Amino acid sequence: MEIDISCPNCGRSDWVQSVPAVRASGVQTVTGVDYFTGVGVAPSGLVPAFGTATVERTTVSNLARSLPLTPYVPSSGKLIALGTVLAIPGLMVIVTFTAMLVNPEPGRTAVTTFLAGVLAFALFSWPAALAFTVVVNRVRRKRRVARGRNTASAVWRAGQYCHGCGLCFWPYSPAPHIPARQSIPPRQFTWLVWSVGGYANLMTW
Ligand SMILES: [Zn+2]
Repeated sequence: MEIDISCPNCGRSDWVQSVPAVRASGVQTVTGVDYFTGVGVAPSGLVPAFGTATVERTTVSNLARSLPLTPYVPSSGKLIALGTVLAIPGLMVIVTFTAMLVNPEPGRTAVTTFLAGVLAFALFSWPAALAFTVVVNRVRRKRRVARGRNTASAVWRAGQYCHGCGLCFWPYSPAPHIPARQSIPPRQFTWLVWSVGGYANLMTW
């Protein structure tokens, strides 16, 4: 059986391209030379500096960006490092107040010292807590996307895009609840693909 890949909206098939092909042709890595000017430090003082640097850039066309298989979830490495640094003041509070509890000053009760310690800890630790909350959130999102990615991929790969109409469609229904031969905008296409993967609620509208 031959699959009809003509656009359901305009009926043409020469403007139709599969979604993975649209994505692949829209993502390019370009190597080029960048010229820079700046200021350098020399024994005589500040001097103007010129130079070149080889750079590699990945560009994604707007169209390719509008048809992603998965949401972009940033990696957590830098944030973990930041959270660790931000945790230092809180640890110092614990050390300081533990020392104060072990060697109490005359006239100050252990309860007062303890409560002051808890307050100081809360005050100094919230930036680290915030950083780690974001990390946990990202890890959770990444895991969720990883779980559904393969299932969503089959549906995504079956999708077609008409360059004439700017609309997507599936020539046949690759999964339940996926409409066959119905033109839909890229946003809706993405939403359906992500729904199959179980991560549609990570979509920001
Ligand atoms: Zn069309």
